[in-house]
Amino acid sequence: MTQQMLTKIVLATRPTGRPRPDNFRLEQAVLPDVPQGGLLLRTLYLSLDPYMRGRMDDRPSYVPPIAIDAVMGGETVSEVIASDRADYSVGDIVLAPSGWSSHAAWVGDSLRKLDPSIAPITTGLGVLGMPGFTAYAGLNIIGKPKPGETLVVAAASGPVGSLVGQLAHQAGLRTVGIAGGLEKCRYLIDELGFDAAIDHRNDNLRGQLASACPKGIDIYFENVGGAVWQAVRPLLNRFARVPVCGLIAQYNGGGPADDVSHTMRAILTKSLTVRGFINYEFAADHYADFLTSVSKAIADGKIRYREDIVEGLAAAPEAFIGMLDGKNFGKLLVKVS
Ligand code: NDP
Repeated sequence: MTQQMLTKIVLATRPTGRPRPDNFRLEQAVLPDVPQGGLLLRTLYLSLDPYMRGRMDDRPSYVPPIAIDAVMGGETVSEVIASDRADYSVGDIVLAPSGWSSHAAWVGDSLRKLDPSIAPITTGLGVLGMPGFTAYAGLNIIGKPKPGETLVVAAASGPVGSLVGQLAHQAGLRTVGIAGGLEKCRYLIDELGFDAAIDHRNDNLRGQLASACPKGIDIYFENVGGAVWQAVRPLLNRFARVPVCGLIAQYNGGGPADDVSHTMRAILTKSLTVRGFINYEFAADHYADFLTSVSKAIADGKIRYREDIVEGLAAAPEAFIGMLDGKNFGKLLVKVS
């Protein structure tokens, strides 16, 4: 009898700066049996997320780095193909942190069952999953939006930024999105209802942002850092709130050296509330409300989302590298099987 195999992508070497395809290695291994008291999972979709770049480096952070030769970590939507648990049956669809692999033997919890009749299963990795909750929690808990205020968010066509902008718009704020390129900027206005959209690659980012925010900025949802933060900072109003969610412009190294001192001065002289956060800090108190309200808004056609799905696990490294350059348009997923 021929053995069934699984395919996985491991971290081969640590990147210096921008990751390269040879930092990853595709491997095959024998498909394990269902573990005692556990599940055997087949990956349907793998989520590719910016935080994965940080986990490729060996430096202290809020989660440990991925070890060399270990499977790249990540969230998946998977199907249960064998079960040794009473609470899971073959055919169940689950969210699982099972990594860049076609299959996984799973013991323990950290799973969430998905009901395909409520929403497409891919949304569990995007608008109704970790990125969506990040937007909801950062905006409402730290941003504290009020009608009539102005909100700015960059990486605005992605899963975090697109929900931040739509929720803020529905709460009665003026919403200004920053994205890379004309097509993404058009999408922000035509499809998502942003009041203004600015291409961060244009050579007058500061001037365009000032025109788009005539009353200054009350909430800057920080996804990017670098040049975008420098353009935003002078426009922050007194008592502005800055949920510091991500700094993607700095993930591959670089960023202006004087950023920190300018930032600190702005925090002091404008009495800013600046708070970093990792989405799961708020999960126990707010996840259920998020799922209820955003699922309903999607069903009512009030929230839109966009997915960018590439085919096959082998395409994951190139797609991931491209995302860090803005080549994705919407929540980046890999259709694994
Ligand atoms: P996206 O799908 O939006 O992908 C990242 C996008 O960032 C790219 O498509 C690109 O869009 C933009 N980008 C990359 N480099 C730059 C740059 N130098 N300047 C401006 N924009 C840039 O990602 P997500 O929505 O998943 O994540 C958005 C942010 O939220 C990230 O910083 C991520 O790390 C953070 N995050 C934080 C979490 C938390 O718990 N704190 C949880 C989840 C995400 P474009 O073409 O528009 O430039």
